Amino acid sequence: MSKCYRCDAKATSVEHVPPRCLFPEKKDVPKIDYRKNLITVPSCIAHNSARSHDDEYLLCVLVTSYENNPVARQHFETKIIRLLRKKPWFQTTLLKFLTPVLLNGEETAAFKVDMTRLRTVLESIAYGLHFHAYKERWIDKIKVIPLGMFKEEGAIFIRHPLEEAMLEGSKVFFADKEPLGENPDIFLYQIHRDLEKGVLVIKMVFYGGFEVIALSSPQIAETAANTGVDTDAANTAAQVTP
Ligand SMILES: [Zn+2]
Repeated sequence: MSKCYRCDAKATSVEHVPPRCLFPEKKDVPKIDYRKNLITVPSCIAHNSARSHDDEYLLCVLVTSYENNPVARQHFETKIIRLLRKKPWFQTTLLKFLTPVLLNGEETAAFKVDMTRLRTVLESIAYGLHFHAYKERWIDKIKVIPLGMFKEEGAIFIRHPLEEAMLEGSKVFFADKEPLGENPDIFLYQIHRDLEKGVLVIKMVFYGGFEVIALSSPQIAETAANTGVDTDAANTAAQVTP
């Protein structure tokens, strides 16, 4: 059997990339199959979803994002509502920190996002996509920058200007590449690798709106670290009406 997508251990199972819970089930959306040809990579026990709670946390952050498509909203109304009912930890994570905010002149709600947790799951996805694309492991550290977040500035929420610049800058890598993904309403990605320069750039789009850039290279990683996107990030939850 092959090796794990993250380490040298023997793979014992497969890991969905991104996590399967992001893709609506047939019972929630009978007319459309959102689970067509999901990407899987070989995984050892340690790197498999022993962290299903983290996957569900990612799901929660993604589907409550302000800029998403209606599929995300529907997923919220079915899957997330079920999770809220069934799992007490989910309520404390999501609802406890919910505060009313003004975004683009509209009243909505926001909650603080655990960026460390979010980044950990997004990083795994980036490593998984690289493995899927090139059939080998990416060894260097990957930094992820979620762009679908709003930051609190005074009483209003705004997008970070440096994030916008980064998104614009990443376009050069993907100028000649079509986005990949069999379920575009849920997930699309583009990947660029330059082994000579040691550069890996991945752009992911969840639910047509939540964008994430994953970067690996000494210089780029440093720039990402200096943008300050780690601190006090808040994710707007326009759909949430507790
Ligand atoms: Zn492993």
